[in-house]
Amino acid sequence: MAQFDAVVIGAGFAGAVVSRVLADAGRRVALLERRDHIGGNAYDHIDDAGVLVHKYGPHIFHTGDRRVYDYLSRFTAWRDYQHRVVANVHGRLMPVPFNLTSLDIAFGDRAPDLARRLTAAYGEGAKVTILDLRRSRDPELAQLADYVYENIFKTYTVKQWGQAPEDIDPATTARVPVFLSRDDRYFQDPWQGMPQEGYTSLFERMLDHPNITLRLNTDALRVLTLTQVGTTLVDGAVFKGPIVYTGAVDDLFERRFGRLPYRTLDFVFETHPVEWYQTHGTVNYTVDQDYTRITEFKHLTGQELAKKTTIVKEFSKAYTGQDGEIPYYAVITPDSRALYDRYAALAGEYGNLRLLGRLAEYQYYNMDAIVGRALDLGQELVRALDREMGKG
Ligand code: FAD
Ligand code: UDP
Repeated sequence: MAQFDAVVIGAGFAGAVVSRVLADAGRRVALLERRDHIGGNAYDHIDDAGVLVHKYGPHIFHTGDRRVYDYLSRFTAWRDYQHRVVANVHGRLMPVPFNLTSLDIAFGDRAPDLARRLTAAYGEGAKVTILDLRRSRDPELAQLADYVYENIFKTYTVKQWGQAPEDIDPATTARVPVFLSRDDRYFQDPWQGMPQEGYTSLFERMLDHPNITLRLNTDALRVLTLTQVGTTLVDGAVFKGPIVYTGAVDDLFERRFGRLPYRTLDFVFETHPVEWYQTHGTVNYTVDQDYTRITEFKHLTGQELAKKTTIVKEFSKAYTGQDGEIPYYAVITPDSRALYDRYAALAGEYGNLRLLGRLAEYQYYNMDAIVGRALDLGQELVRALDREMGKG
């Protein structure tokens, strides 16, 4: 390891972007990945039927951050794709986020009056969280809020989190507000789309750099030792350069303060001998079924394939830490955050160890947020390494 300036653990967006920033600045990076592939949870591949699928659940890129879009555009062209989601409410499909079109579908003749009341209360184009809407004093709007709560949020959230919407972190349901508009896109960010040749190709290009040495099938916890005295060993030798860790932080410390809570998912893929399985990229099952949603990949990727399509159903459950289970979503509560803070403080005792990414930071981050944070950290590390060299 002496030949490397930095060690990065995990080849998802966090680890890949940090590695590339360091590499472009002339630093040599060892990138260690436990899985047999790059891309983290954004990894995609061609399945047995020839369909491009996302192994760890559907990923749609969207961002309001021009810097992130420009950076990733170095490694991919984009397919213009605007994600649209509908909820299946007892067989009736309506846009999610619940918007003025959903209002028409659900309320018929009553919709124009409700739309006027909504607009008067919150303003045209407003995004109102379901928890806020439920606080409305207008009895008509309170009834509407009950409808949306019961038919869009309650069952889906219980399936996804094992808890009612009012009992989870409010930021989670706020991701999908009631939208006083007829814009039926799932995201309103100015830059959205899918990597033209898929995410894995994007990662291949990003990691194709002479200063990056990638080691797949390498569990960093087997090669990294955190000593009692705040030093870090890699492959048994003291390593003083930056170590960026993007895995679960409780794993890093063998869960010594207890396990952080996460939700995991089972993905059930099905290939059907039809052109299209459903009308939209994703259909959310908000009042029935055990799965939360069905995504049909061809809608997202634009792949043309006659009479064949692959879908995925997502089943959510509590993460137990068993071998093979993957922690996908941090279950953020005041208790879990306090537990996370203890682990983060412990990590802080190792001056060269940095936590980055959705798992290591225990946050509900989208891909673009992770890329932005990785760019910042990469640049910070480059500056620090430059300063050190100046000193030397
Ligand atoms: P990850 O992608 O999880 O990468 C971490 C990597 O570290 C993994 O490859 C892992 O194997 C590796 N690792 C962990 N521990 C070790 C170890 N000990 N040694 C070596 N390697 C290790 N975001 C969007 O913007 N749009 C979407 O549509 C979207 N859809 C999503 C759908 C689902 C079902 C999920 C779960 C997430 C979705 N996200 C989406 C979020 C997106 O997946 C994350 O923002 C992104 O993957 C985070 O990147 P990361 O590098 O932090 O983590
Ligand atoms: N949600 C819901 N019904 C829906 C869509 C979302 O109740 O039809 C809630 C649910 O609690 C979910 C959260 O809003 O976990 C965030 O949804 P999002 O689609 O952003 O989740 P992700 O794609 O990250 O799984």
